[in-house]
Amino acid sequence: MQDRIISAHRREDDDLQLEQGLRPRTLQEYTGQEKIKEKLRIYIAAARERGEPLDHVLLYGPPGLGKTTLAHIIAYELGVSIRVTSGPAIERPGDLAAILTNLGRGDVLFIDEIHRLNRAVEEILYPAMEDFALDIIIGKGPGARSLRLDLPPFTLIGATVRAGALTSPLRDRFGVVDRLDFYTPEELAAIITRSARLLNVDIRPEGAQAIAAASRGTPRVANRLLKRVRDYAQVMADNVITGPVAEEALRMLQLDRQGLDEIDRSLLRALIDKFEGGPVGLDTLAASISEEPENLEDVYEPYLMKLGYIKRTARGRVATREAYNYLGLNYREDLQQKLW
Ligand code: ADP
Repeated sequence: MQDRIISAHRREDDDLQLEQGLRPRTLQEYTGQEKIKEKLRIYIAAARERGEPLDHVLLYGPPGLGKTTLAHIIAYELGVSIRVTSGPAIERPGDLAAILTNLGRGDVLFIDEIHRLNRAVEEILYPAMEDFALDIIIGKGPGARSLRLDLPPFTLIGATVRAGALTSPLRDRFGVVDRLDFYTPEELAAIITRSARLLNVDIRPEGAQAIAAASRGTPRVANRLLKRVRDYAQVMADNVITGPVAEEALRMLQLDRQGLDEIDRSLLRALIDKFEGGPVGLDTLAASISEEPENLEDVYEPYLMKLGYIKRTARGRVATREAYNYLGLNYREDLQQKLW
């Protein structure tokens, strides 16, 4: 289901060049996430003044909200190089050791999906983060000894969909831990307008607002929808994205005004039809629509919860009155109260 047009994950057709071209390079250019930016400005200035590396930073939140972008910006603002990798890409402790020993002083190491590091690799990271040291074992059996190598001081920036998915020894070693939030429609409209300018697309404010509303609070989705709407405008509408043009293009993509697609609707319908509105456990609900529980929890649910259609309770997921209204169904208050 990763190939949904509104998937927040990077898709094959997210031309990497294009995505990078749209990526803001400085804190100034980075729209939204004001609280995080304000803190980072101070920490970065302080680290620069002291000539020390910035504390390790953990960024978490749903995909496509700008964690990778922010990591690049932090490196840029610190005036250092960045090395980019990901949890699943580092298979053996030796792979991580090689990356660490090749860092320059003060550099940023960005590890995406850091919750997916394996144990053996993670253990290399503890002394590296804490003491800028690498503990290596030489030899085998009773004759084996451990050797400690110094590493250049560096900043680790980790990104994950959930801070709770990290082991606590790893989480505790981050000095700065921040959650990225969904963007407001105004922020998304600003991002879309900026991207349209970079792509040389003629867009009206109403066009940007319509795309923003369907972007699920997520810049990656906003940029992707902009590209599809641009195609539509080019072929069908004199190359100008007006409000009606954007709405018609989104309708063709089978998105409603809030960016919900058929899968969102089938999830809500399953919750209501098969489980009488809940509460139902995550695994059961996921199985009923043939989806991975992790995907449901990390990718699909957050936006439905933000819209107020789903609630997480101690006993499981529950459809709210708004979800019934959205699907045009009758909310049975008596039944809901009995079940809660
Ligand atoms: P994540 O790492 O959280 O999955 P990315 O950093 O890869 O997300 O962001 C996805 C895309 O969204 C980027 O290529 C960038 O163009 C855009 N983007 C993300 N955050 C912002 C922002 N604050 N302002 C403008 N564009 C953004």
